[in-house]
Amino acid sequence: MKKETVSCIFCKEKRLYQVSPTQFKCFTCKKKFSLQKYQHEQAMIQAFIANQSASLCASSLGLNYATVKKMYQKIRLLLMEYSENIYHQQTHTFSQYDEYYFLPTCKRKNPHYLFDAIGILGMVYETHIYTLLLPNQFAHLKHLEEEAIEKEMYARFLMQHRVAHYESFENPLSNFWRYLETWMEHFKGVKEENFIAYLKEAEFKFNHKNEAEQRSILEALWQKAFYM
Ligand SMILES: [Zn+2]
Repeated sequence: MKKETVSCIFCKEKRLYQVSPTQFKCFTCKKKFSLQKYQHEQAMIQAFIANQSASLCASSLGLNYATVKKMYQKIRLLLMEYSENIYHQQTHTFSQYDEYYFLPTCKRKNPHYLFDAIGILGMVYETHIYTLLLPNQFAHLKHLEEEAIEKEMYARFLMQHRVAHYESFENPLSNFWRYLETWMEHFKGVKEENFIAYLKEAEFKFNHKNEAEQRSILEALWQKAFYM
């Protein structure tokens, strides 16, 4: 069958035993793998890069929605870890930082939602950015009446005490805030507790604009996490 064109996903050996219609065993490293599963994973990584929703990806690949959703979650977890690792290697190169409050487009124009905003601290290292979620400073204000004096005071405080250090007006962080707002629009709302995962996805896609680069990083992370 197509045995000849297949190589081992662990060691690239070309000599394989086919142990079932989908399972192969490597002649050299003796490991078994499902070629179909592996190819599906590659296709899901590609769909993730293309910003395809889990349901669209599932229907175009003929897979279960739950399978794709789980795969996307795993990729986002890998990206969170990836971002942390880079941050720890780069701490000495940070030069600029900025605080930003994210609100979905539908809530942005309405002052009523001001305290639903998610605070983010962004930092720049070389041409890349790194983000951190700020603790929710407004939790205790949400239950207050719209006209409450505390709300007005906090809003003013927020405007005056923005933490920022820019070396130039046009910088990666202001570009990233714009990118994040536009990019988040293709999701139909994201739960607050999942926001960090999407933020890290946006950070990754912003830092690596080239899709081929994204693909090679993601495949390497996936390989390392699940096939080594
Ligand atoms: Zn092998």
